[in-house]
Amino acid sequence: MTIGVWVLGNQLWPEQAALASCQTKDAPVLFVESQAFAQERPYHRQKLVLVWSAMRHFADELKEAGWPVTYAIAADTETALRDWIKAEEITELRVMDPVDHPCSAWLEGLDLPCKLTILDNNHFLWSAADFSTWASKRKGLLMESFYREGRKRFDVLMEDDQPVGDRWNFDKDNRQPPKGKLNTPTPRWFEPDQVTQAVIDKVETLGIPTFGNATPFKWAVTREQALQVLETFIIERLDTFGPYQDAMVTGEDTMWHALLSPYLNLGLLHPLAVVERAEKAFLEHDLPLNSVEGFIRQVLGWREYMRGLYSYVDADYGDRNWFDHRQPLPEFFWTGQVEMNCLHQVIDQTQRTGYAHHIQRLMILSNFSLIAGFNPQAVKDWFHAAFIDAYDWVMQTNVIGMGLFADGGLLASKPYASSANYVNKMSDYCKGCRYNPKDRTGEDACPFNFFYWDFLHRQRDKLQTQGRMSFILKNLDRMEPEDLEAIQQQAKDWHQAHR
Ligand code: FAD
Ligand code: SF4
Repeated sequence: MTIGVWVLGNQLWPEQAALASCQTKDAPVLFVESQAFAQERPYHRQKLVLVWSAMRHFADELKEAGWPVTYAIAADTETALRDWIKAEEITELRVMDPVDHPCSAWLEGLDLPCKLTILDNNHFLWSAADFSTWASKRKGLLMESFYREGRKRFDVLMEDDQPVGDRWNFDKDNRQPPKGKLNTPTPRWFEPDQVTQAVIDKVETLGIPTFGNATPFKWAVTREQALQVLETFIIERLDTFGPYQDAMVTGEDTMWHALLSPYLNLGLLHPLAVVERAEKAFLEHDLPLNSVEGFIRQVLGWREYMRGLYSYVDADYGDRNWFDHRQPLPEFFWTGQVEMNCLHQVIDQTQRTGYAHHIQRLMILSNFSLIAGFNPQAVKDWFHAAFIDAYDWVMQTNVIGMGLFADGGLLASKPYASSANYVNKMSDYCKGCRYNPKDRTGEDACPFNFFYWDFLHRQRDKLQTQGRMSFILKNLDRMEPEDLEAIQQQAKDWHQAHR
């Protein structure tokens, strides 16, 4: 009997379940760097570089540790897998659960000449089964309740059964707009080594649809480098992470954010290690609780919740379109060529780096997509193409649920919809914009404004079923009919001009 382990591209951790299930290091291990994967949908070029370079580095590390590793660079995944099973005479193939539904379905549908064992994914704090047990006992699935349960379950920032600082949530201290000179810290970046450079050269000449620039590529590609990014965040960024979590500034791609999602999602860092490191820094260095709690909430709360929910909801979740939004996604999402400065800045940054921080994703990209009525599945596909940290499990709940409210409120208690007021308050983008954030109609009117009111009016019936929207809908009722008509006309004209 020969057990073989197939390590998928986002499972790059020596203790991942399939490797850990082998008693000794003599089981053959397979990696497949597949061109077919890159052709399934367009990806950001830096994502392809990151995944393939990190795979090559991790395969080398396993080899050095004594595992017999095959690294297949193949046109097609299934052929490479079958060839390896035959060559190594594998009788049992072990794979850790990929989490992403399309990949799981593909794997389970393979008719392999050996036994297939899929092991539970141990790269999250909550298993799918534990989340399901938690969720099935509740009427609502609020993140806040889940997060508190996680704090208790994993004993993070707790004093006996009470939260440290006597509050679970310090969010209201964490919404400072950007004012004056901010002195943001420099992120920990890396120069590409030979392995990464070879992958960059490959990606540059692939000749398939991709998004964004492959260079300059500055991301970490090994666990050791990812740990350096974590340390830099803890020592130089975490103390100010909280207050400016929501702020956006031209030319400041990263602010005080952690830049950890690419590594967490690849398996280079484990979420528990990240949470424990932040808690340790709080205890040892007296860091501000609003920053530390704010960060831990993201990893222990939001990240685990998004994955748990993805595994819990029906398979059609990604196809939902509660508002029946059908507008096509404008071409400028792919080029960044748009006069709206906020969208231009964030799309341009995403092309250059594959990264935008949470509020840029939520309150610029998806807020605009929601109020302008773009089709949710087209928006989801764009996000998947645009971001270095995109995977099906994290994309569906964030884009369909949080960003677009296309699930009808399973995840969020109200749509994240806002006019230019929010962008003007939380960023400096409006200062450099040809539109006026105060105007609702007219030549200089900001599209966030007329689309915001047009959205409230168009979706009034659905929105009034959401209790938290009633105050805003009262403002809509106070609007003069001719103002509303002008707003609707301007929204229509905008769509015509952007087809
Ligand atoms: P920080 O702001 O420093 O946060 C720390 C960590 O918390 C992140 O690294 C991430 O692991 C975790 N986290 C925080 N919020 C979330 C969340 N809502 N879902 C999952 N993890 C979270 N995250 C992805 O990993 N991949 C995506 O493709 C992705 N797409 C998104 C799309 C939309 C529309 C929205 C609103 C959010 C999306 N997010 C996604 C969540 C979040 O924006 C990113 O995780 C975060 O911006 C990554 O940057 P950071 O590491 O600097 O995060
Ligand atoms: Fe964006 Fe409107 Fe501000 Fe321009 S004025 S940056 S379009 S919110």
